[in-house]
Amino acid sequence: MSATTAEVVICGAGIAGIATAYHLAVRRGMSGVVLVDERPPLSLTSDKSTECYRNWWPGPGDAMVAVMNRSIDLLEALARESGNVFRLNRRGYLFATAYPGRVSSFIQAAEAAAALGAGPVRLHAGPGSEYRPAPAEGFDDQPAGVDVLTNRTLVRRHFPYLAEDTVAVLHARRCGWFSGQQLGMYLLEHGRERGVRLVEGRVERIDTAGGRIQAVKVSARDGGRMIATPRFVNAAGPFVKQVGRLLGVELPVFCERHAKAAFNDTLGVVPRHAPMLIWTDPVRLPWSEEERIELVQSEAVRHLLEELPPGVHGRPEGGGDSPVCLGIWTYDVEPVVPTFPVQFDPAYGEIVLRGLSRMLPGLAAYLPRLPRCVVDGGYYTKTPENRFLAGPLPVEGAYVIGGLSGYGLMASNGAADLLADHIVGGALPHYARAFELERYDDPGYRAVLERWGDSGQL
Ligand SMILES: Cc1cc2nc3c(=O)[nH]c(=O)nc-3n(C[C@H](O)[C@H](O)[C@H](O)COP(=O)(O)OP(=O)(O)OC[C@H]3O[C@@H](n4cnc5c(N)ncnc54)[C@H](O)[C@@H]3O)c2cc1C
Repeated sequence: MSATTAEVVICGAGIAGIATAYHLAVRRGMSGVVLVDERPPLSLTSDKSTECYRNWWPGPGDAMVAVMNRSIDLLEALARESGNVFRLNRRGYLFATAYPGRVSSFIQAAEAAAALGAGPVRLHAGPGSEYRPAPAEGFDDQPAGVDVLTNRTLVRRHFPYLAEDTVAVLHARRCGWFSGQQLGMYLLEHGRERGVRLVEGRVERIDTAGGRIQAVKVSARDGGRMIATPRFVNAAGPFVKQVGRLLGVELPVFCERHAKAAFNDTLGVVPRHAPMLIWTDPVRLPWSEEERIELVQSEAVRHLLEELPPGVHGRPEGGGDSPVCLGIWTYDVEPVVPTFPVQFDPAYGEIVLRGLSRMLPGLAAYLPRLPRCVVDGGYYTKTPENRFLAGPLPVEGAYVIGGLSGYGLMASNGAADLLADHIVGGALPHYARAFELERYDDPGYRAVLERWGDSGQL
C-alpha cells in the first residue's frame, strides 16, 4: 500500500466533487487537492441527468433562488471563457395548463418568484402583447424573470404544438439546459492543470484523532493507499449517507429513483427550438377500449386508468438533425436504498409518452406503434426539505456537498463555490446557513420544516 499526502481529499468525482476540486484549485489556488472515485468520473448519477437549469425555486426565504442565481452566474462565466463548450442555452421552462382555475396561481407564483429574486414578471393578457420568445441557442442578452401568457390566441401563436385547450403558460426565463458531461470535463481538465489529482479507488475508512481528520484509506485494484490529510469532503452522491457513517455522522438524506425516457420524434411534433415543456395539470392517460379492458383486469397496472399526478415534462435533445426528445414524469416516488444497476418500471417509456401526449397531442400519433424508448436514470439524493448540504460536518476538517436531488448539475457551481469558501475560510454569502447541516439543530428551523410547502421538485 503506497502512502501519500493531500491538503484535501474529496470522495466522489461526480459533478459535486469535481466542481469542488475546481473551485478550490482553480478559483482559490489551493494545492494538494485529491479526488477519489471508485468509478470513472461523472459516471454514476451525473451523466443520467436531463441537464436543465432554472432559477425558478420556491421559498421559504430566498436561499434557493440566490444560490441558483450564483450558480447560473458561474455557469455563464464558464460558458463565456470556454467558448460555450458545454452549449448552455437559455430557452426557459414553459409551464402550461388547460385549467382556467390555475391561471391566477401562475400569476401568484410568478410574483412570489420575483419577490425572491428570480426577476421581473411580465404579464401578457392581450392577443397583441409583446412577448419575446427565447432563442434556440446562446444565453446572452436574454430577459430574466417570468412571462405569463394568459391570452389563448397569444399562446396558440407562439406555442401551436401545445394542446389546443391550453389556457395559459408561464415562461420562466433564467432557465435552459447544457451538456453536463462537457461542463464536468471542462472543470476537471482545468482542475488537473492546477494540480488536482484523480485517484481511482474506494474510500473505505477515515481516520480521525482528537476529533480531527487525519487520513483516508483508499482501497484499489493495486492494493490501495493511506492518504494523510487534514481535510475530507464527502461528495459521494447516492452514497453520501454511507460515507458520512465512516465519520460517525448521520446525514438526513434519502434516495428516490428517477428515470428519463428518450425517443426519436421522427414526426417532428416537438419543435427543435422548443423550451423545456411542463404540463402542470393531472393527467388521465389515453387508452383504447381494448387496452382499458386489459388494464382493469390487472391489479398491478389498474392505477394507470386513474388520474396521474401533474408535472409530466420533456424537451428536445441534441443539436443539428437530432430527432431525440426526452421525457420525465415523477409519477411514482418511494424512498429506496440505492443499488446499482438501477431497475426501472419496464412501462416507464410508454407511460411518459402517453402522459406527454396530453400536452403535445401530436405525440398521440406514436401510440398505436410505440417508438423505441431508451430509459435510464439514477437516484435523487434528498434532504427532508429538498435543500442540499454544503458545509462543515461535526468532525474538524470534514465537509459535505450532497443531497443535490434532481438539481445537482445546475447547483453544482453554486454549491461548490459555497463549500470552497467554507474550506478556505472565505467570506460566506447570506444563504450559507440555509445549506449547512447545523440548520437541523435549530428548533426554529425544525418548526418551519414541519409545515414546509412546495419542495421545488418537478
Ligand atoms: C433522471 C435524472 C434527471 C436529472 N435531471 C437533472 C437536471 O435536469 N438538472 C440538474 O441540475 N440535475 C438533474 N439531476 C440530478 C443530478 O444528476 C444530480 O444531482 C447530480 O448528478 C449529483 O451529483 P453528485 O456528484 O452528488 O453524485 P454522483 O454523480 O452520483 O457522484 C458521486 C460519486 O461518488 C462516488 N463514490 C461514492 N462512494 C464512494 C466511495 N466510498 N469511494 C469512492 N467513490 C465513491 C461514486 O462512484 C460517484 O462517482 C437528475 C438526476 C436524475 C437521476
